[in-house]
Amino acid sequence: MYCANCGQQIFPNSTGTCPNCGAPIGQNAPTDAVPPQYAPPPYVPPMPYPVPPTVSYEDADVILKIVCFFVPLVGIILYFVDRDTKPVSAKQCLNMSLIGLGVSVGISILAVVVWFVFVFGMVATFS
Ligand SMILES: [Zn+2]
Repeated sequence: MYCANCGQQIFPNSTGTCPNCGAPIGQNAPTDAVPPQYAPPPYVPPMPYPVPPTVSYEDADVILKIVCFFVPLVGIILYFVDRDTKPVSAKQCLNMSLIGLGVSVGISILAVVVWFVFVFGMVATFS
């Protein structure tokens, strides 16, 4: 804004009197500054990239795969939840779950086999 008396530019945070001529500066002092209500809206930079699509074809997170491997139920649920929005990730999670499930079943069968071999071995040894 400018001083109504001498025309000196006055910074908006100045109060009281004009630093140049001493004339009082108030709400009623005429000014050629643009009233705030007519100020242009703040500049908003445009988005550098277009809005990403809702469907993601990115690979599943490694940690997520590990979780799916050890907790197959998580991967199976994730598959049905994410198959529309993240088809690649969902499929990978399902695969890891199935592999984890297979490994679990395999270890279980192996444990049973080892147990039987051990028991029958003991019986054969001490009978
Ligand atoms: Zn002045």
